[in-house]
Amino acid sequence: MKIAVLPGDGIGTEIVAEAVKVLKVLDLKFEMETADVGGVAYDHHGHPLPEATLKLAKEADAVLFGAVGDWKYDKLERQFRPEQAILGLRKNLGLFANFRPAICYEQLTHASSLKPELVSGLDILIIRELTGDIYFGQPRGRRTAPDGPHAGAEEAFDTMRYTRPEIERIAHVAFQAARKRSRKVTSVDKANVLETFQFWKDVVTEVSQQYPDVKLDHMYVDNAAMQLVKSPKSFDVVVTGNMFGDILSDEAAMLTGSIGMLPSGSMNASSQGLYEPSHGSAPDIAGKGIANPLATILSAAMMLRYSLNQPAAADRIESAVKDVLSQGLRTADIHSEGTRKVGTREMGDAVVAAITKKTITKS
Ligand code: NAD
Repeated sequence: MKIAVLPGDGIGTEIVAEAVKVLKVLDLKFEMETADVGGVAYDHHGHPLPEATLKLAKEADAVLFGAVGDWKYDKLERQFRPEQAILGLRKNLGLFANFRPAICYEQLTHASSLKPELVSGLDILIIRELTGDIYFGQPRGRRTAPDGPHAGAEEAFDTMRYTRPEIERIAHVAFQAARKRSRKVTSVDKANVLETFQFWKDVVTEVSQQYPDVKLDHMYVDNAAMQLVKSPKSFDVVVTGNMFGDILSDEAAMLTGSIGMLPSGSMNASSQGLYEPSHGSAPDIAGKGIANPLATILSAAMMLRYSLNQPAAADRIESAVKDVLSQGLRTADIHSEGTRKVGTREMGDAVVAAITKKTITKS
């Protein structure tokens, strides 16, 4: 097994170092190779996704990714911006299915902006289609409006589109994921207004015939946004398009209190995947040693489960994370009265200690 380790910018290097430390104590045989990506890659090699980094990612079974970006790169031409590295990796590896679990740990229910009874025990899996929709649809651009009430004025436009195979494959991913959970899928669309999403709804319904054991319901995206804050526990697996998924997964993230706790994974048809925390490079706290490494550590657990076929090792990491939370250890973003504030490294060390302690107790 080979893991490409791409820490990136800002807090990326700090949090990935902790995840690597955790992976190393698992006694699994894998090779890890590190490469530059994002702004640091632009500084060193003139491109946010250098050829060598892409080659390493393509050859690996999985990619462990930190985060990219910094405001100092905002003035660069779009193709050289750090964030282009993520789009390039998604495209080149064909990562079409994004998994974003939103889990509210018992110990952190108070950190949510919702009432504890609404989020206690919350465990949602948002599956977002990642390579299609209005984010990639052509044509797009700026021009002079050819018609309409403002013909002749300057305008900008994008194209929302989905092909049948793109919808079918993400629907299969969702139904198969639901089989490992409570066998319930909510497909989110905007079929009442958009042709693309009426088609989405029709195709998801067709695919559902192959999964009679999974319950499917459909919800308009505006209602889904409301229900996520009204009764989030009514959801299990949510499947949706790229743009709606982008927005809903961030909304769901906030239900759990801190973005510093949320892992994510993006997979292709052969289960090769890129695993990264849901947050960005947090330049405001980079270098201070206070970033929460748990989202990245939990992303490493997802990597073991979904791409490296090591579910037992994934369980060990997840249970170690629960242990450290039960011990009352908290980074600044999730800290509250009565808990002990720790830095990035101390949190990583505590997860390592929880894993090794359990191993010793067992043997
Ligand atoms: P961000 O997620 O980096 O930060 C938002 C807020 O959350 C900040 O206050 C930050 O300090 C805090 N935060 C984030 N992760 C944390 C952690 N692990 N522990 C504690 N606090 C944490 O989003 P932003 O500020 O909008 O963007 C910063 C940069 O990151 C931008 O350049 C943006 O383009 C980039 N970005 C990258 C990715 C990615 O690499 N996948 C995703 C989102 C944003």
